Amino acid sequence: MNIHEYQGKEILRQYGVAVPKGRVAFSPEEAVNVAKELSSDVMVVKAQIHAGGRGKAGGVKIARNLEEVRAYAKELLGKVLVTHQTGPQGKEVKRLYVEEGSDIKKEYYLSLVVDRQTSRVTLMGSEEGGMNIEEVAEETPEKIFTEVIDPVVGLTGFQARRLAFNINIPKHLVNKAVKLMLGIYEAFIDKDASILEINPLAVTGDDEVIALDAKFNFDSNALYRHKDIVELRDYDEEDEKEIEASKYDLSYIALDGNIGCMVNGAGLAMATMDTISYYGGSPANFLDVGGGASAEKVKEAFKIILSDQQVKGIFVNIFGGIMKCDVIAEGVVKAASELGLEVPLVVRLEGTNVTKGKEILNESGLNITAASSLADGAEKIVKLVG
Ligand code: ADP
Ligand code: MG
Repeated sequence: MNIHEYQGKEILRQYGVAVPKGRVAFSPEEAVNVAKELSSDVMVVKAQIHAGGRGKAGGVKIARNLEEVRAYAKELLGKVLVTHQTGPQGKEVKRLYVEEGSDIKKEYYLSLVVDRQTSRVTLMGSEEGGMNIEEVAEETPEKIFTEVIDPVVGLTGFQARRLAFNINIPKHLVNKAVKLMLGIYEAFIDKDASILEINPLAVTGDDEVIALDAKFNFDSNALYRHKDIVELRDYDEEDEKEIEASKYDLSYIALDGNIGCMVNGAGLAMATMDTISYYGGSPANFLDVGGGASAEKVKEAFKIILSDQQVKGIFVNIFGGIMKCDVIAEGVVKAASELGLEVPLVVRLEGTNVTKGKEILNESGLNITAASSLADGAEKIVKLVG
């Protein structure tokens, strides 16, 4: 789960991490009021969307007086911001963050991630901050330094100091940088984050070491123990289909292809997507309906797939173990009769109650193409979609 920059900075504040003073605003009037409270010579008006790259896309504005704050707030609110992380459709700006402008001397990169290779939280830093860190990783990987953190000991002072020296934080500010690193680590662990990116971390003219941006990502499997984080969820930023799916406890992820997939088991779902791609198609979603799904749940899942305007065909690939083929068939038929089915449907059923399942589908009068295997089904749906 993602949150906004201003929410991330609020969490960081609680952990003693230096961030500029600021507050969220939902209207130009509010933005001006926040700016008044700040009484700073330079203010920054920042679009709040769940995507980075706002600076380059014109979503971060430097204002020198209240009139400029008002003008920028008017300009940004309601604007669709297209950054390299939003995709071409962009994201509408509905919230702003107004904060104090910092006198930046140099921008650094700092992050905490869960590294799958070492299975450990890793602190990463670079003196090449502010810009695209992926580019730095590709072109000058020697400029990225990491510290692998022992989960029992936690981030130690000497590791933080070593990183600060490696990324060339000015010597007299190393202690401030270390304090900040220990603070972000504590926040990361306490909140069960999976990513925390501070880009840029800035060293300022008045010798501050301060987080100018904050991107948090939380482990959704741990959200049950973080009610405070769940409350920060902004439904405007999420895919409607994914929100709908989460109501029914379905593992659904929207993708940008045109073949809807309904599969049981995450592994089989991944294999199905791979096989569709192998035959030249492109999946519209990942969906694992799970083992114990009822016909009702299957129906809702199928409706979510059908609600996707991009879907030009659907592939149902079920290997019935705990999940019974007749339950799947019943759900599919119910959803199709409620919403109508105008796109081709390929079904491959195997396993528990397969005969009963096929009977239900045959008697439904739906126009279904039967498939004998995963490969056969993938090939057929790709052909039908064209
Ligand atoms: P994004 O990563 O989405 O582009 P950032 O919050 O990193 O957004 O802002 C982009 C750039 O804007 C930063 O690299 C920094 O140069 C500048 N900036 C952001 N916040 C401030 C601030 N409070 N004071 C001065 N400059 C800022
Ligand atoms: Mg940034």
